[in-house]
Amino acid sequence: MPDSYSNFQELQLNELEGQDYQIRVKGIGHSVLIIAPHGGKIEPFTSQIAQWIAGEEFAWYSFEGIKEEGKDNRLLHITSHKYDEPTLLQALKQAKVVLTIHGLKDSSEEFLMIGGLDSELGQKLERTLQQSSFKIKSCEQKYRGIRATNICNRGCTGKGVQLEISYALRKRIIEDTECRNRFVDSIRSLLLAQISPRN
Ligand SMILES: [Zn+2]
Repeated sequence: MPDSYSNFQELQLNELEGQDYQIRVKGIGHSVLIIAPHGGKIEPFTSQIAQWIAGEEFAWYSFEGIKEEGKDNRLLHITSHKYDEPTLLQALKQAKVVLTIHGLKDSSEEFLMIGGLDSELGQKLERTLQQSSFKIKSCEQKYRGIRATNICNRGCTGKGVQLEISYALRKRIIEDTECRNRFVDSIRSLLLAQISPRN
């Protein structure tokens, strides 16, 4: 389905903040930024997962669909390479490590796809998650996140990572504490090592 809006300004003219969508941020200015650009009811559970990964240490940003039941929250989806919400663009200026969290529709199989221009961090994430028993599928073209304007690549290094998480796996992470801790901890340890002075 094509997006209804091609940028944030168009969205803002047609949707009401506080009724259709909300923006939540924490810790902006930290060098690690975890982003849920399609959070709330747009790609369910991605906001929560982004916050868990950020924990107390990292910054997070969440753009959330909050339309009431029966209304189409998917309308609020602005594709990643056109994403230009100003609070986020500002936060990205100070971010050295950027990780965006997305949701794939697949509700039968638990897996992830890893994209973005930071292939070094992407490969580390892939290894770490595989060691923690998560299934990584090779990235389909449209999920590669390699355009320079993709929101994951707009931090101050010009490269970041995006995680596409299947619905089945997101649901498991929400409902199963053991799985959640395994997922969140493995990503957090890697990100913490990434910003440690030894690196
Ligand atoms: Zn998304």
